[in-house]
Amino acid sequence: MEQASHDSQPGSDSAPSPAIRPAELADQEFYCLECGYNLRGLTGDPIRCPECGRENPLWLLTVPAPIISRQFAVLETSSAYSVLMLLLFLVSCVLFPWLTAGLGKASIARIAIVTCAFLGGAIVSLHQSRATTDNHPAWPLAIFRYHFFGILLFVGFFAELALASWATLGPRRVLPIAWTWLITLIVIVLQTRWLYRAAIRDLRAIQRNMAVRIAARELDRWFSKKKRQ
Ligand SMILES: [Zn+2]
Repeated sequence: MEQASHDSQPGSDSAPSPAIRPAELADQEFYCLECGYNLRGLTGDPIRCPECGRENPLWLLTVPAPIISRQFAVLETSSAYSVLMLLLFLVSCVLFPWLTAGLGKASIARIAIVTCAFLGGAIVSLHQSRATTDNHPAWPLAIFRYHFFGILLFVGFFAELALASWATLGPRRVLPIAWTWLITLIVIVLQTRWLYRAAIRDLRAIQRNMAVRIAARELDRWFSKKKRQ
């Protein structure tokens, strides 16, 4: 996909010809722009989808990777919201007795409503997240994985901060303060990267079809508009 990026990026006037030699296309995965059907092994330009009949021009199928990455980020938003809402719900539940201690009935009801709203937000986001995978059967497991590692990422972050604070402010100082915070920073960065990759692995795999489809449609619209002008 990378090879096509020089020619297919918005900026040139006409639909560019792919800069990819046919031999390099042989093992590439292509998906129909209309229905997402896997066009692997099919030849010709355009490639006619056996599922829905859409003629898929080759240059559009080789959508540049950065445009697909942007779609991945958009598609991930609902899943990320779900993790955030669920975390807020859990924290509200745990802190509920402290938050409501000594308050009147009306205030307790307000806090309870906000707590329920977090759960409601998580449910709506989950519903949207499922749609970003075309209701893929592997979605429940993928979204569970995303939440598991996502929550671990947050917990890990605060655990590292707490540990570093304890190491620098506690009675026994093991390392100089600057060293402690430098090591903490490195651990947080590595830990976050690893946990994030683990979180998105399965979700990305089942969002791929839709990400490529939306990215290709976006390019298609862009070039059609450009041609009409
Ligand atoms: Zn199709």
